[in-house]
Amino acid sequence: MSASAEERREQLVALYKEVQGCTKCPLYETRTKAVFGSGNADADLMFVGEAPGAEEDRQGLPFVGRAGQLLNQMLGEIGLVRDDVFIANVLKSRPPGNRDPLPLEIQACEPYLWQQVRLIEPRVVCTLGNFATKLLTGSPTGITRVRGTPQVRQLGGRTVYLLPLFHPAAALRTPSVKQTLQEDFATIPALLERPLPDPVPSAEELAEAEEEGGSTPLPPSDQLGFFG
Ligand code: URA
Repeated sequence: MSASAEERREQLVALYKEVQGCTKCPLYETRTKAVFGSGNADADLMFVGEAPGAEEDRQGLPFVGRAGQLLNQMLGEIGLVRDDVFIANVLKSRPPGNRDPLPLEIQACEPYLWQQVRLIEPRVVCTLGNFATKLLTGSPTGITRVRGTPQVRQLGGRTVYLLPLFHPAAALRTPSVKQTLQEDFATIPALLERPLPDPVPSAEELAEAEEEGGSTPLPPSDQLGFFG
């Protein structure tokens, strides 16, 4: 039997505490506060950014700087507020000087994100920017090529719609990116209403099936459209 919302919330609180004391990568030495993520623990919609910036590191909360204000504005434009959604990042600790996350840091931190998806049980996960998109799609294809098109993915053991979006910080820098981000945001309400397809095979299952020389399981045909 699957866990109740209350049990999942309790497990999320336990995970929060674990992240506060995490020393799995050297970023714990320079962070002020770990940034677990915040919002509705039972949200249908989840956002995944890159890593905390200076303000997030100070407050221990995600997206509280300028990029966060734009995220709030765009949520408002589709009739949502922060408490309707859950917002997390690939990295829970700030990289010094806001440098790019390192592969070892992502590797150390990603199990927390998979646990968050497993416990929150979102239907739609929006990745913000290149780092989150590449990690969650499992593909090196950059955000510019994949943004705005939902993909069906297995994350944290669940089938979800993954919607890659430009990062709000990029939208702050470039008006045309902001316009595109707004247009992509406008597709979220319909995606939330769309029934989730049957589970698709995970990357591991596909690799295993191929190794065993068996036929490669394919998603049902109604899902293939989401791959392009
Ligand atoms: N940018 C991110 O990717 N995450 C935050 O939490 C803030 C800014």
